[in-house]
Amino acid sequence: MTITVEVEPLSLTLRTPFTLSYGTTTVRENLLIRLRTGDQIALGEAAIVPYYHETAGRVAAYVTSPAVLGALNRDPLHLEDALNALPRTPSSFARAALDIALHDRWGSALGEPLYRLWGLNPQRIPATSYTIAMDDDEAAYLERVRAAGQQFGLLKLKAGSPAGWERDWQRIRAARQVTGAALCVDANNGWDRAAAQAIIPRLGELGVVFVEQPLPRDDLDGWREVRRALPADHPPLFADEAVQGVESVAPLAGLADGINIKLAKCGGLRPARDMIALARAFGMQVMIGCMVESSVAVTAAAHLAPLADYADLDANLLIANDPFEGVLLKGDRLILPDRPGLGVTAHVAD
Ligand SMILES: [Mg+2]
Repeated sequence: MTITVEVEPLSLTLRTPFTLSYGTTTVRENLLIRLRTGDQIALGEAAIVPYYHETAGRVAAYVTSPAVLGALNRDPLHLEDALNALPRTPSSFARAALDIALHDRWGSALGEPLYRLWGLNPQRIPATSYTIAMDDDEAAYLERVRAAGQQFGLLKLKAGSPAGWERDWQRIRAARQVTGAALCVDANNGWDRAAAQAIIPRLGELGVVFVEQPLPRDDLDGWREVRRALPADHPPLFADEAVQGVESVAPLAGLADGINIKLAKCGGLRPARDMIALARAFGMQVMIGCMVESSVAVTAAAHLAPLADYADLDANLLIANDPFEGVLLKGDRLILPDRPGLGVTAHVAD
């Protein structure tokens, strides 16, 4: 039976404007892909992340190209063959969309959820953290922190304010006053070496659990310099933007204490599993994260989360119009669907 690839825009509206060191987002235009074989449909999603300079047109052109169709047109059980046959593309977003859909098709063909096919225990999924973006309206910001702290045991505070690390420090200290939840801080490349050296020890004294991407992604010498200057008991440093695909893990050994793996950055579930194995070999901790994505991509990532130390899989919660339902949240625990493949279904409005 022939396979077709359908591409559809997936316009995701954020519940509140999301401000990172890169700027503010209110809507993200992702792409949904459907692999259709007869009446069987497998789902994939490409995040289109503006600050990675990807375009929906480029991703759509790749996933519908004849060479990709040729690669997909094979026995659904031969997942590795299909993945290996995909033509090379620099777009990890396009590769992730197809990798997710091929895994969905594989799991559906076997009649089991992905986590079960991998032998994973869903009880081992770490509680998800919840992200609080920067906000210059201090009262609104602290109210968000306070409210989120009622539901989530770990809050991820975005930092890297254009006003300097002192502004971040002031905001994080104020947040510490209004919640009992554990805090971690993500600077999204937003500090330079001097700022990182100034703020990280203070964050350690405040009990911050880890600090993510304190320095610009390409400044690996900076990681070395900052680590040398930090007190021995500094909070663990996680790489996010500095780690992309499998090849970027080894250069961070000895520099980052952990890595934040996202399917959209590395190209899907198969490379993500390779990265987890590699990180463990280097003694690094593992976080499974996501972009602004619907329940399709977030659920795919959640199937891997039993292998992680931290889960940062809150994106579907930040979206007001998620058309799908997959991984669910009970308090801050992620509950995987017990359906074949990804286990994602169209969202039924309540
Ligand atoms: Mg991050």
